[in-house]
Amino acid sequence: MTGALAGLVLSLGMIAPPMTAVAAQGYDLDTASSLQVVVNKHRQLSPTGYVPGPLVAVQGERLRLQAADAYKQFAKAAKAAGVNVLPISGYRSFSQQTSLYDSYVRQYGQATADTLAARPGYSEHQTGLAMDIGNASGTCALQACFANTPAGKWAAAHGWEYGFVIRYPAGAEATTGYTYEPWHLRYVGQAIALDMHRTGVATLEDYFGLEKAPDYLR
Ligand SMILES: [Zn+2]
Repeated sequence: MTGALAGLVLSLGMIAPPMTAVAAQGYDLDTASSLQVVVNKHRQLSPTGYVPGPLVAVQGERLRLQAADAYKQFAKAAKAAGVNVLPISGYRSFSQQTSLYDSYVRQYGQATADTLAARPGYSEHQTGLAMDIGNASGTCALQACFANTPAGKWAAAHGWEYGFVIRYPAGAEATTGYTYEPWHLRYVGQAIALDMHRTGVATLEDYFGLEKAPDYLR
């Protein structure tokens, strides 16, 4: 093959959308311990009782080591900019998620419970890669208005620099199965977070070319 032809073949390969290019790089979206595992209402963790390790303490919450390191840098940079970000909820075990979900089912019934918390085995929090954040003041904690607070604005503007994405963006409920959660950060690593920021692809489902997951299959 001549150099020119090889160059043409390479550039044809580059025409593929980012999600294909990335998938071809070999990210593991299926294994529970993968830093790029994709969990949603169609993709239950396997095994359902998966426990990540090692888990590291972050101001009273826990995250997997890589996510914890990134989170600490993220929060430190925020503080240097005058924004006090606090962790609200990090790792949750299968049994903790079961208690949370069951309490919602008892209070509101299953249909409403499904809009409030993931079913056990379907929560990103069980991967140790997700953190719900808040403001030190408590303003708009776990509410959509969090997006307009200092911590919410910081997360949207700078989270990607540390490898985090806003996992449930506004207007993507038909894809992610969740309404806007500007407080829920998911660690995916800097390469993917940067690429999603650069390309404007809002969800992991779209980025990796996965099917939409608006509801549980059963
Ligand atoms: Zn969350």
